[in-house]
Amino acid sequence: MNEFDREDRFSTGVYSRQSLQLIEGSGATVRDGDGNEYLDLTTGIGVAAVGHANGAVAEAVKDQAEKLLTCSPAYFYSDVRADLLEKLAEITPGNLSRSFLCNSGTEAIEASLKFARSHSGREEIIATMRGFHGRTLGSLSATWKRKYTKPFEPLIPGFNHVPYGNLEKLGEEISQDTAAVLIEPIQGEGGIHTPPEGYLAGVREICDEVGALLIFDEVQTGFGRTGEMFAGQHWNVTPDIMAIAKAMGGGVPIGASIVREDIEFSTGLHGSTFGGNPLSARAALATINYIEENDLVDLARERGEIFKRGLEEIASDNEKLVREVRGLGLMLALQLRKKSGPYLDKLMKKNILALPAGSSVIRFLPPLEISPGEIDRVLEALREVFASD
Ligand code: PLP
Repeated sequence: MNEFDREDRFSTGVYSRQSLQLIEGSGATVRDGDGNEYLDLTTGIGVAAVGHANGAVAEAVKDQAEKLLTCSPAYFYSDVRADLLEKLAEITPGNLSRSFLCNSGTEAIEASLKFARSHSGREEIIATMRGFHGRTLGSLSATWKRKYTKPFEPLIPGFNHVPYGNLEKLGEEISQDTAAVLIEPIQGEGGIHTPPEGYLAGVREICDEVGALLIFDEVQTGFGRTGEMFAGQHWNVTPDIMAIAKAMGGGVPIGASIVREDIEFSTGLHGSTFGGNPLSARAALATINYIEENDLVDLARERGEIFKRGLEEIASDNEKLVREVRGLGLMLALQLRKKSGPYLDKLMKKNILALPAGSSVIRFLPPLEISPGEIDRVLEALREVFASD
């Protein structure tokens, strides 16, 4: 049995993977067992924003592992957790300052939905078409794609979807029964869609008119990915609740639902055994400090502009194949007129790893420190792959 067969044989079959086993990495590079190197623009689906095997994260994890790995948030206080909670309040916009720590994006959404229903005393949640929020039942009920939701019906009642970017439809759907509007400021899995000008501010206004909470899902967009610490900041729109995860722990699983200063809950309302454990809290602190100390938010904006310009040139030279370039910062995509799978395979043969987002999109979520030279390598590989079509 080879290594691919072994992983398939003893796992559930829910994933279809590339035939590539990753052994180690550093920065934007990953290596397989034969020592072949790949430039990684997948980063574990937007996780390794600070690069693979980031020294600061590795050191923090090692140090904490030797001190204390677990300290239940339900029973004891933790110095490291307090540091992280304070840091999150400092870096999040507006008066978002109370965090519930968890272990993944979908848990951050679950917590956000529960908090919204509990705080508002209302039931209905409005999410958007093309939106993706995770695979547990609450998050799934907010997720749009039938492929993900159908096998698990009936979903949780009270969820409705409106077209992303359309304020009129939102205005028609929202009511005094709406607990919250849940939205990705930039849609990720749905194909990297940035909001039309004025859209997020309009959503904020509509929510305020009926007293509904606004939840931003910044799971994919957070921590500098788009050229702001959080994507909503591009448009100066602050939600009442924000869900984060992915890049937060530099690769160590952690997420959070962060609520407004004035929102507080009763004891026992929600909980998690592992949420905010000292190991992941230390990893997250090291990650955030690294992002700040190395100005990665500005860097993502600068490198994103270089990368996007290059993609736009390729798009205009390949109009028959590329419909458009989308995205912000280092959350970028090429919308093709054909299926993207074969092109992703060809890129992999050229040692470049990129992601799909739907069937005809090539998505790039590189580490924020990807160098101009590495961006050139990606652009060159794309040119060659498209020329050989
Ligand atoms: N929300 C968004 C916007 C995501 O992109 C994802 C994952 O891709 C999730 C939520 C779910 O995160 P997780 O896979 O960590 O549960």
